[in-house]
Amino acid sequence: MFREIRYVAEMSKLPSIFNDVIGPVMRGPSSSHCAASLRIGRLCRDLMAGEMTGILIEFDPNGSLATTHKDQGSDMGLFGGFLGWEADDERLPESERYLADAGISVAIEIVDIGATHPNTYKITLSNAAETRRLTAISTGGGMIEVTEIDGAAVSIAGDYCETLVYSLSADGLCEFIRERVPHEFVDVRAGDSGFVEIKSREFPSAEILDELLARPDVLFIRKLNPVLPVLSRRDLFVPFETCDEMLAFNEGKNLALWELAAEYESARGGITRAEVFEQMRVIVRIMGNAITTGLKGTKYTDRILGSQSLQLRQQLDSRNLIGGDANNTIIMYVSATMEVKSSMGVVVAAPTAGSCGALPGAVFGVAQSLNRSEDDIVKAMMAAGIIGVFIASRATFAAEVGGCMAETGSGGGMAAAAIVMMAGGTLSQSIGASSLALQNSLGLICDPIGNRVEAPCLGRNVMAATNAVACANMALSNYEHLIPLDEVIDTMKEVGDRIHNTLRCTNLGGLSITPAARKIGETLIEQQAFKSC
Ligand code: SF4
Repeated sequence: MFREIRYVAEMSKLPSIFNDVIGPVMRGPSSSHCAASLRIGRLCRDLMAGEMTGILIEFDPNGSLATTHKDQGSDMGLFGGFLGWEADDERLPESERYLADAGISVAIEIVDIGATHPNTYKITLSNAAETRRLTAISTGGGMIEVTEIDGAAVSIAGDYCETLVYSLSADGLCEFIRERVPHEFVDVRAGDSGFVEIKSREFPSAEILDELLARPDVLFIRKLNPVLPVLSRRDLFVPFETCDEMLAFNEGKNLALWELAAEYESARGGITRAEVFEQMRVIVRIMGNAITTGLKGTKYTDRILGSQSLQLRQQLDSRNLIGGDANNTIIMYVSATMEVKSSMGVVVAAPTAGSCGALPGAVFGVAQSLNRSEDDIVKAMMAAGIIGVFIASRATFAAEVGGCMAETGSGGGMAAAAIVMMAGGTLSQSIGASSLALQNSLGLICDPIGNRVEAPCLGRNVMAATNAVACANMALSNYEHLIPLDEVIDTMKEVGDRIHNTLRCTNLGGLSITPAARKIGETLIEQQAFKSC
């Protein structure tokens, strides 16, 4: 008999800087489409032990994916995931062909699946011996949650080693497993075919798995590998979850914002503060490489805009532009990063791929202007990361849920705090700058042109980065931000809930449905048809 037993094995709600905020390192236009779907695809592959011949993917007509799954890269990412690839695999643009070459057929249907989340994937996987079903949602910035496997409700974020022990009955099995892995989460999931779910930091040993398979009630075992870089664990704790709690934690310590970020992520990931710092250094170098690559000029057929950053560089060199050099360098760096993303190069989703330009563009541009070192940039990214943690835990980075406010708005809020810190401002000035920048982006809609994450995305990233600089300077001048950061973030959530779904990355409203945008979309489709002739 299978009776649902739930302990505390729910998806961790404690964001990690490297899971939720700064990352993944990826290719593709959108993290909530490409990176998230790739992670879902990898879990599907593991659920089938790598053996699949047919896959049915269903999207709800009322969700965002029905209109965006192809053009914004969900299909590309899913297919790569089914093949077991990483999110920055250079073969991703060709993943459909590779999947067909692997003998796996895919059908995509838009049908009413009763989805309650705009980014819902319902996937049926089959081979000659079995059929399994998985439902998952993309929650923003490449994060996911598997909500159902074979009819059983689950909560899998990809931050644990997941062992599913399929059996005829849970009677006695659960106790048996708990004796063998006493320190792990062990839950019984009752669906079409019941299984016991073990969530652990490492998979149970081969010896324990052999013992389980030797039991007459156990049918088979599936091991779902984690898809996130930072894993969770049973004794997980963090020193603070909100900005107010962080300030209380810092009383008498007088730590800088980047040090507080190191404290948080060290506790969240179970690694040392020095390891957090070096992990961020790797990310910073990838961000810097994206800027350098973009400034060399990028080429890609299936995009709307060319290398705008080169045009700006020419004007900047000719001293034809208005405003300070730092501001114009930031615009150029934001553009270069966005152009690398749009040409399928490697970027860091920070907090998302659609908003991958604002934060690094602002931080690298200011660092250049202030002559700061790589270590200073690493510290700035950590400061930005902890602001992102507060946003992730109380609001969202998903444009499908909170509009562009959730993406570029968040990026600007994170960058503002980082810039203040780089400029030698105080902790409270950093937080004030972040509050101001987020206040300025409330209600920003998501309405991509031609169903591509290029425009108005580029301009919105530039706006977020320059807004960050303006708010940093306001905070450094002790302007009053009036509303505490936590309250602004709660307001983001509330405002996002009220944005109409046609204005949340569905391609059904705003600039997306202007005659000019429709024409651009038609031209892109014609180009694709010509390419495949
Ligand atoms: S408009 Fe903003 S939220 Fe929408 S796809 Fe572009 S960057 Fe992302």
